[in-house]
Amino acid sequence: MRRPIVKYGSRILQRATEPVDAITPEIQTLIDDMIETMYAAPGIGLAAPQVGVGLRIFVADVSAGRNPAELLAFINPAFVARDGSQREDEGCLSVPGFNTSVGRSSRVVLRGLARDGTEQVIEGAGLLARCFEHEMDHLDGTLFVDRLRGLQKDLIVRKIKKLSKSGKW
Ligand SMILES: [Zn+2]
Repeated sequence: MRRPIVKYGSRILQRATEPVDAITPEIQTLIDDMIETMYAAPGIGLAAPQVGVGLRIFVADVSAGRNPAELLAFINPAFVARDGSQREDEGCLSVPGFNTSVGRSSRVVLRGLARDGTEQVIEGAGLLARCFEHEMDHLDGTLFVDRLRGLQKDLIVRKIKKLSKSGKW
């Protein structure tokens, strides 16, 4: 079932999430719903706080559904390694309509649980590394907008405030 995506300005997006202690049927349903919501958006990654759930879970598919083997679900992910740097345009399903360049690592290794409870260690380069850092940020209550500075940030925040005031956010 598709779930509504929470937008910038909502408190849940600014709070650090709690680890999952048991992969229950409810967690499986949450992951199914997150995958469906991500594909429908469409997006290449979605973290649990974006559907209003404060747990350390995210799903990702940098092929956007073209290659089923690239679909990932991570439960309680942690960084194993991050190195290099890249700067590309980035967006977020919780900040629709805004894309801007954000600096990220060019290679990221994550360790965590797959949805069947087995441990997985996955290395991402390029877009997947960017996606991993973006989703890990969500689990710590950080949005890509929070990583911007000065004018770049002011401009987006001001536009969102304007949209909120006119009920369009
Ligand atoms: Zn996002």
